[in-house]
Amino acid sequence: MSNPTPTPNDLEAYWMPFTANRQFKAAPRLFVAAKDMHYTTHDGRQVLDGTAGLWCCNAGHGRRPIVEAIQKQAAEMDYAPSFQMGHPGPFELANRLVEISPADLNHVFFTNSGSESVDTALKIALAYHKAKGEGARTKFIGREKGYHGVGFGGISVGGLGTVRKQFASQLPGADHLPFFYNRATMGFSKGEPQTGAEAADALESLVTLHDASTIAAVIVEPMVGSAGVYVTPKGYLKRLREICDKHGILLIFDEVITGFGRLGSAFAATHYDVQPDLITTAKGLNSGTVPMGAVFAHDRIHDAIVNGAPENSIELFHGYTYTAHPLAVAAGLAALKLYKDEDLFKRAADLAPYWQEAIHSFKDAPHVVDIRNTGLVGGIELEPRPDKPTTRAYDVFVKAYAKGLLVRTTGEVIALSPPLIIFKAQIDELFSILRDVLKDTA
Ligand code: PLP
Repeated sequence: MSNPTPTPNDLEAYWMPFTANRQFKAAPRLFVAAKDMHYTTHDGRQVLDGTAGLWCCNAGHGRRPIVEAIQKQAAEMDYAPSFQMGHPGPFELANRLVEISPADLNHVFFTNSGSESVDTALKIALAYHKAKGEGARTKFIGREKGYHGVGFGGISVGGLGTVRKQFASQLPGADHLPFFYNRATMGFSKGEPQTGAEAADALESLVTLHDASTIAAVIVEPMVGSAGVYVTPKGYLKRLREICDKHGILLIFDEVITGFGRLGSAFAATHYDVQPDLITTAKGLNSGTVPMGAVFAHDRIHDAIVNGAPENSIELFHGYTYTAHPLAVAAGLAALKLYKDEDLFKRAADLAPYWQEAIHSFKDAPHVVDIRNTGLVGGIELEPRPDKPTTRAYDVFVKAYAKGLLVRTTGEVIALSPPLIIFKAQIDELFSILRDVLKDTA
């Protein structure tokens, strides 16, 4: 039997991602337009964007230079194949990107999302060790509470039970570092917690357990985003770097959220002054306008794979139909120019102290059990309702939306990450709405 013709406004056919479909469709929330710091809802209201869409619209919404670049590119050349063919855009974009990437990460592999960037980086790590004659290095170490997207590689190294438990099959040999967070010692830290770096030493135990000769790479988010904004303790990432170096293990930073200015520098690697071997990005790369991701690879890794392959043969059997899609590339070039012209990464750094004070003023607000922040990111953790976990934070999200503010909730945490163009008055407005909502939430 064929499907009945759907009515244009029937919500049923679209199976929404990471959404309680039945709950949403009973009371939908739809955006129909966006400009600068605001969305317009389907019922004509303005909503202040406290989350840069989904951690991605770092330059704000509907920015003319990006819009025009996409329009021009669509009219000029819609698509070009990227296997054994090219177009000028991605060469130029890669050059612009390596100007702002950490030293020696001078090669860029384009993808279409954060999940694809993660799987690409894991594959590059395997290919690198194989090229070096260390093909037994096939295991990966992630971390509890890590989020690395939804590919099978990403959920294998990821450490969020909710994202893994419906899917039995995962990469063999993935193990996890323990989570570093301890509310008793780190709660209400302003910026980086000053204690807790020793949690990185657990990597030594995993190396002893698996043997270094079997481990390809360690992958971590330099700031834990999706699990609820946890800032890594001072010195933790450096310690991981040292242990990886000691054992010939690659270190991958998943900067899908932290890349492109979120912490006040182009990358968290620069911000924390720790040099990874690979960086995964997406989201802010073109300010969320066209799906795109990128993996940055250290020269040593790129050269081992590319120069190690037989002449005139494909060096990496990996890529996507939409790798370096012309529209995504055009948007990327325009976004990078805008970031530079408006000095938006520095703007984030300059606003960070104001942001920090504003968010920590919530210490005495109802239900708040912890507050975390770094750059232009914040997490406010609420006490769960007895027997009804996550419902309080969800109610805050729905009430904030009704009052004209978009926040994101993850578990018991309200996560905030506004576009980097936010003004101080809008920071005040954001927290004032949130304060009213918290007061109004049982
Ligand atoms: N890695 C990290 C650190 C992320 O935060 C995300 C998404 O939020 C991903 C990977 C997956 O990105 P995408 O949803 O674009 O596949």
